[in-house]
Amino acid sequence: MKRKVMKFICSDCKKEFKPDGDVYYLPANLMNGQKEPQWICPKCHKKWLDGWKVVRTVVNPPKYKNTHCTATCTLKNGKIFFFNPVRDYFNEDIPIDAMETARKAINDYIMESRKHEVDIAITDSFDEQSITGKDGTGNTIKVKFRHDRNGKLQIDDKALIGKDENFVNLFIKKIKEVF
Ligand SMILES: [Zn+2]
Repeated sequence: MKRKVMKFICSDCKKEFKPDGDVYYLPANLMNGQKEPQWICPKCHKKWLDGWKVVRTVVNPPKYKNTHCTATCTLKNGKIFFFNPVRDYFNEDIPIDAMETARKAINDYIMESRKHEVDIAITDSFDEQSITGKDGTGNTIKVKFRHDRNGKLQIDDKALIGKDENFVNLFIKKIKEVF
C-alpha cells in the first residue's frame, strides 16, 4: 500500500488548507447524513473562537425557589448564549472558555450574594431580649425587642437608624421569617 497525503477542505470556507498544528473537525454524524468528518481550517477555527468571546454576562437569579442561577452571555459575534449550569453541553459545539466564563460569573454572583445574607441570633433571657444581625461584609446590628399585649413582636427601631438600608431590610425580612 502506497502512502498518500490527506487533502483537507474546510467545511466552512470551502478552501483547501494545510494543517497548522491541531486539525479541528466535526465528527461524521450518520444521523444527519454526514458521512465524512467536517474539517475546519485554522482561520475558520480562530474566527469561531473569537466570535465566541464573551463580551457581557448577566446572571439571572433563580425564578422559583429551589432552582438555580443561569447566565445570559453576549458574544463578540453579536449572538446570545444562554448558559444553564445543570444542562449537559457535552455534545454541543461550544468553546470551553465561553462556558467557563459563564460558570465563573454565576459562582461570583452566588459568593457575592452570600456575603449579603443576614444571620440573626436571638437572646431571650430574664434580663435581655435582643436580636443581633450580621452579614458577610461586616454589617452588624443589635435591637431590643418585646412582645406586646397581643403577643406581637415589637422591635426597638432606634438601633436601625443610620444603618445601611439594604442591610436593615434583609435583617427585618429575616426576623419575619423566624418569628
Ligand atoms: Zn475555513
